[in-house]
Amino acid sequence: MKNHSDLGLEDSQLIQNFSYINGHWHSSESQISVTNPANGNEVAKVSNAGVIETELAVNAAKGALKMWSAKSANERAGLMRNWFNLMMQNQDDLGRILTLEQGKALSEAKGEVAYGAAFIEWFAEEGKRVYGDTIPGPSGDKRIIVIKQPVGVVAAITPWNFPNAMIARKAAAALAAGCTFVVRPATQTPLSALAMAELAQRAGIPAGVFNVVVGDDASGMGKVLTQHPDVAKFTFTGSTPVGKTLLSQCATTVKKVSMELGGNAPFIVFADADIDAAVEGALLSKYRNAGQTCVCTNRIFVQNEVLEQFTEKFTAGVEKLAIGNGLDDGVIIGPMISSKAVNDVDKLVQASIAQGAKVILGAKKDPAGENFYQATVLSQVSNDMPVAKNEIFGPVSPIIAFDNEEEVIAMANDTEFGLAAYFYARDIGRIWRVAERLEYGMIGINEGIISNAAAPFGGVKQSGSGREGSKYGLDDYLEIKYLCLGGLDK
Ligand code: NAP
Repeated sequence: MKNHSDLGLEDSQLIQNFSYINGHWHSSESQISVTNPANGNEVAKVSNAGVIETELAVNAAKGALKMWSAKSANERAGLMRNWFNLMMQNQDDLGRILTLEQGKALSEAKGEVAYGAAFIEWFAEEGKRVYGDTIPGPSGDKRIIVIKQPVGVVAAITPWNFPNAMIARKAAAALAAGCTFVVRPATQTPLSALAMAELAQRAGIPAGVFNVVVGDDASGMGKVLTQHPDVAKFTFTGSTPVGKTLLSQCATTVKKVSMELGGNAPFIVFADADIDAAVEGALLSKYRNAGQTCVCTNRIFVQNEVLEQFTEKFTAGVEKLAIGNGLDDGVIIGPMISSKAVNDVDKLVQASIAQGAKVILGAKKDPAGENFYQATVLSQVSNDMPVAKNEIFGPVSPIIAFDNEEEVIAMANDTEFGLAAYFYARDIGRIWRVAERLEYGMIGINEGIISNAAAPFGGVKQSGSGREGSKYGLDDYLEIKYLCLGGLDK
């Protein structure tokens, strides 16, 4: 194991090696090795918690619930503001930890920290606006009153592709609503979660309010988080197949559930689009995090009149994306999370080539290391090829030509997913028509990057349910309670 001081951090205490339960760091007998996907080097060892520690964390969250929910929204906001400030003050270190365990380029990692922290800041304020209603009743002697209350203990499971922000997005809304929180981060990327716990402690967030359990028993720990009777709400970000399993487990105790699952985002370039802007948007939307985001462009549809122009300009842009260790200057595309992920992407690419897709760029593993895949552009792709049917989760752009609006909307909607979609056009009639007919939870119109704390993030169809961010995101952590006040005529 590296000495923490070798990792190039200003504050080596941000590397924590134990689960954080009820305000304490919990060691376990066995350990997990966290490695850097760029080179396989060990970054740190972390205690391998399991079912028992997960139950302890749920108990801690239950124990802290009365105290936390009884605080005023202002008090909670003050503590969350401290947490936000500490995250931003430590943005460089948190970004470095994120790149070391996850691989993305350092500038992107720091961007993720700021994005995650922004949810904590935004929800701290929004928590002050949990309004109810007074409704005139059906008879003069009654009033209907609606209040909103925290759901209770929230359990979360998060993926490796955004080790900071996927936790921040959930915890921010939960804590602002007055809920307490237990998260099990992905086994490959626990360090960002533990650094957040360290900062939560320094911020004065009371013991038991924010708990992190790290362990490789995904199924066993997942069963506790989805079936424990004291967990009122379960929130998950990850793949659709795992989400379905967890959803069915939640049915045993009828939990309130939010699911942020997989995507297959279309990116449509109409002939009336600003082509340079479309190229820029597609590059950002496709290649950040080496293509490993749920809202990454998965299929690029280009209208025939501008196909050649777009493809040339886009390919020229992709050629400039430097690949390498995310800590190195100028690198845009870091490693993928594992060699299995590289092989999975390559299989989709090779199977599509076998079905007639043409390689314009890449389509192979990169000599930078076993976890690197070259930025790839494929043309002459059809909507039924493996790269179009599946969530690629890698740096691969399949380009599909189309003739007209009707045809492209049908192709774009021809998937079980419905998370994000993007299109570039200038005609206002077309913009409304297409935006309304795309069956997706989020639509970027002349924009390739769309997520922020003020906007509702989430999908339809098999991309999930519930929203994160915005006033709607807070509602996901609140119960509506109806009070019937009678006897007013006495
Ligand atoms: P994944 O395999 O579903 O894993 C996500 C999390 O679930 C990890 O913490 C994993 O633990 C855990 N897990 C796996 N099997 C489990 C089980 N049987 N019981 C309980 N927990 C279990 O997904 P991934 O490959 O890490 O992440 C990529 C997927 O996430 C993509 O499909 C992507 O689109 C989606 N995603 C969606 C959003 C969104 O907001 N919609 C955002 C980011 C990512 P281990 O780490 O131990 O395997």
